[in-house]
Amino acid sequence: MLENQIKNVIRDIKDFPKPGIIFKDITPILKDQKLCSDIVDEFVLQIKDLEFDAIAGIESRGFLFGLMLANKLNKPFIPIRKSGKLPFKTIQQSYDLEYGSAIIEIHEDAFEPNSKILIHDDLLATGGTVEATSLLIQKMKGEIAGYSFLISLDFLNGKEKLRKFSENNFSLANYQ
Ligand code: IMP
Repeated sequence: MLENQIKNVIRDIKDFPKPGIIFKDITPILKDQKLCSDIVDEFVLQIKDLEFDAIAGIESRGFLFGLMLANKLNKPFIPIRKSGKLPFKTIQQSYDLEYGSAIIEIHEDAFEPNSKILIHDDLLATGGTVEATSLLIQKMKGEIAGYSFLISLDFLNGKEKLRKFSENNFSLANYQ
């Protein structure tokens, strides 16, 4: 089963990037070309009934499968980046972190108003990053078509936070 294959390949790194955090390292997946294409195929299957115009991927690990998926489906890919990284004119959204706050940005011409956007990231934890991304898409007059994640840490209840934007939430490896 693909979910187990993904879970078997992911590495848990203790105390990264800070003491007390167990970080799920997805880089071993990227060394396995067959697993990567199986993952893209499974995403394609899960979202087959979803209508959307583009995929927005969140820096930086959201670029990996976000771009592969967009390319496979012949859809545009939109990078969402941390403040100061995008070269053209941007729209911003700030959000709270455990300590302090952060800003994410999108190019102001990333998509046309009323476009339906699928938001993609490697991992859903508390949902703070994707919530900010959703607000950013709405600021640009986009519609949230749904979400896709490689991993969901279900015990942190991120999916609950996203329900107000869209009920469509797809994730391949779920941790209860
Ligand atoms: P959230 O905002 O709390 O949902 O955190 C999700 C964001 O943090 C995503 O952009 C992830 O890439 C990153 N992240 C949090 N924990 C991990 C982890 O264990 N592995 C990989 N990325 C993580």
